[in-house]
Amino acid sequence: MIQRTPARIEARQSDNDERSWQQLLAGSVTTPEALLERLGLDPAQWLAGAEQGHRLFPIRVPEPYLSRMTRGNPADPLLRQVLPLAEEGQAAAGFVADPLQEAGATATTGLIRKYRSRALLMVTGQCAINCRYCFRRHFPYEDHRLSPADREQVVRTLAQDTRINEVIFSGGDPLVASDRLLAAWAEAIGNIPHIRRLRIHTRLPVVIPQRVCDTLEAWLSATRLQTVIVLHINHPAELDQVTRRALRRLSACGATLLNQSVVLRGVNDNAGVLCELSEALFEAGVLPYYLHAFDPVAGAHHFDVSDDEARSLVRTMLGDLPGFLVPRLVRETPGKAGKTPLDLFA
Ligand SMILES: *Cc1c(COP(=O)(O)O)cnc(C)c1O
Ligand code: SF4
Repeated sequence: MIQRTPARIEARQSDNDERSWQQLLAGSVTTPEALLERLGLDPAQWLAGAEQGHRLFPIRVPEPYLSRMTRGNPADPLLRQVLPLAEEGQAAAGFVADPLQEAGATATTGLIRKYRSRALLMVTGQCAINCRYCFRRHFPYEDHRLSPADREQVVRTLAQDTRINEVIFSGGDPLVASDRLLAAWAEAIGNIPHIRRLRIHTRLPVVIPQRVCDTLEAWLSATRLQTVIVLHINHPAELDQVTRRALRRLSACGATLLNQSVVLRGVNDNAGVLCELSEALFEAGVLPYYLHAFDPVAGAHHFDVSDDEARSLVRTMLGDLPGFLVPRLVRETPGKAGKTPLDLFA
């Protein structure tokens, strides 16, 4: 199922190993011209649309992720996740800026509290990659830049509510933050007796595997909290050798590794691809957790897969995979106490 064409750009992979994750992050492709050039796509066909989408939500793709794409293939499932298309500028009925209504769930600056037992901490608004279908693409991240006083308030809020037993580092991508900041957060949260688990929602170990470095390992291994890392991988071609090695290092720190995916037209709207993804995840020590039904975020309607089609894909997976490799198909419904599972046999 995974294409392994010679055109894949493996040669630059070794260069990437030599560079720090900060350099790789800073060197990301951030313009339509550079993205098309890097992938060998004709500007006459793709530039106008890419520029249009880029103005709505800027392009950002790090080199290690680009290196897994096939040059000259506009349908590459990794490229599709990051290449803006003219369709993004077209309005579509029912597609809105904040489909999950997170703007109303802010407990204190930087802390989103929707569920009783777990609180989501916006460590940073930045991401290492901008995914075109992101349901947070319109999120007002600037409102969540935390001052030292905000950080103290977050810790006080967590300490005061004994119902909270899990803190989720989110963003943006929390691993864009420095290990110094993350270690300080882990320590402050570890000092709150009723908190048991630290969860990290991140795409960085996948898009820049070099992020899994000694300083990250140091604080991740040191915390008394149980750690869970929820990755975000949508297609098996996202898992290359370097990524698998990074994931092994995270497991070795004692973290439980899970994955969430979004069902996306033109990326993984195919039961064979989803089964291959589950198998590839398991080989890398990761268990499938959630498969998110598509959220109707404005600008991303070209990725839409209907709930009925998503249900049918997961029913097929149930026949082809052991139960532990079948992710739960869920949707986040504003106002519900947790993610809502979609009934597969409705
Ligand atoms: C998804 C989400 C969580 C975590 O939910 P789980 O079902 O435990 O994975 C927590 N807080 C918010 C705001 C979320 O969107
Ligand atoms: S990494 Fe996650 S939060 Fe960031 S753009 Fe992609 S989907 Fe959105």
